[in-house]
Amino acid sequence: MGEISEQGRVGTAELTMGSTSDAQVISDFELQFLDPTLEADFDAVAQTLAVEARDLAIEPELRSRTAKLLGKVSLLDRSNSEPVNVELEQPMTLKQAVEEAVKGSHEALQFVRKNALTDYTERAYKSGHVVTAEFSVNENNQLIQYGQTAEDMFINGSRHMAHPLLLERSITEAHNGQRQQYYYETGVLKDFAMVTFSLVPDVITSQEAKEAGYFTETMSYAIQLVTEETGKVIVQSAFVAGADSPGAPRFDTQAVTKTALSFGIDYTGAGIEEILSRPALIHKSMLPDLVVTLVQKSDKYTGRFFGRPHQGPKDYQAHLTECHRREASAESLVEEFVVEPLLAAASRFRHPTDANKYLDQLNDKLLKKTIFTDKSIDSNVLGAIATDHVEQARIYYANGDFRRMEREILEAQRLGSSSSCPTVYKSRVEFEDYSESEDDEDSSQLEVCEFISKECPKCHAKNVLTTSVKKNGKTTYKGACGCVG
Ligand SMILES: [Zn+2]
Repeated sequence: MGEISEQGRVGTAELTMGSTSDAQVISDFELQFLDPTLEADFDAVAQTLAVEARDLAIEPELRSRTAKLLGKVSLLDRSNSEPVNVELEQPMTLKQAVEEAVKGSHEALQFVRKNALTDYTERAYKSGHVVTAEFSVNENNQLIQYGQTAEDMFINGSRHMAHPLLLERSITEAHNGQRQQYYYETGVLKDFAMVTFSLVPDVITSQEAKEAGYFTETMSYAIQLVTEETGKVIVQSAFVAGADSPGAPRFDTQAVTKTALSFGIDYTGAGIEEILSRPALIHKSMLPDLVVTLVQKSDKYTGRFFGRPHQGPKDYQAHLTECHRREASAESLVEEFVVEPLLAAASRFRHPTDANKYLDQLNDKLLKKTIFTDKSIDSNVLGAIATDHVEQARIYYANGDFRRMEREILEAQRLGSSSSCPTVYKSRVEFEDYSESEDDEDSSQLEVCEFISKECPKCHAKNVLTTSVKKNGKTTYKGACGCVG
């Protein structure tokens, strides 16, 4: 069994014991699409430097810390939804951050921007995407993400958890948060990465999972990696498809089990919730491309690219560059269509979650404008019911047939809905939006259709919000660039 020594390093010799696995285990996992040449991979298992978090000697202590945290939560009145501020000066909620940003706090503004952008990219890219974020550290040396410690996140999040399974999940995540904090404090994250596999729950119905924010169209799962690189603690998330289409057989558990096994971590027989509760510490010498190395392993087993059917060469580096490009292009759109309206509504938020609800609406709206012209966005992120309309609209857009495009857009906007990461616990209740009451003229006779044009055909401005208004059978187009048609 591995043990964290006083120097905070996991002993190498100890690591290779207890977690090596037999090649025969592998044969239990044969799936027809698996690559038969990869058995050779497992010869290397004996040399891996990986251990499960639960096998470390510190684990009982960490468990008691999690138990204390649970005790703290049960003392709180769960019906009272006012978030609890646990000895923290940083903005706790998006609402507070928005208010501080309006007063001029640059830090708060960055916080709002980061939240808005993450929420948007999580909606738009359900598989085949990699994001890297940095933790900051507060004065108590606690890791902070989105302005909260893992403990705060749990305390604030668990109170809005409707389904008992999701509450259980959040307890698991809280415990993983304790682990991550400890590995950081003791320096383990300098040489190792903590790797967690988070799959769509299978003990609730697909519909329930969908409502909770999971992307069930392709059963996307997240590989999360936390480590320290050049003095900064980072979290990398890779989103990988776990099924080819809605209702198709899931291959996520097998892919994850095989991936872990190639590092000597044996999840054989473990269910989805158990896998989440058993993160691995993997030595970084085994992860030359960090989370992408794990994606590559998984793809090798499934014969796919980020879990998706794929033709041609698999260029992971080029794809990472594409992920950066997406983030950069999303940044300016999110600034204009999400961050600015959010700040403008600051004085109208009453309930602490109003800002989150409004963010949800704004990003949903933005995605329903960008998706028709930006082919890098998965066409199914508004749900299977809207996918055909999205794809048709793209074809009409490419052909310049705006009239037909509009019809498809309106249908997709009517039928579809998007969601971001399920760990951003939020409710679907509408926030009353007072900001867009400009067109009070009887809107019943107007048919307004909005989308983001990749490029204005007249002035060639990029990412132009284009509005078509149909009134008495006549349609006019107006670009935010000023051009009309
Ligand atoms: Zn123009």
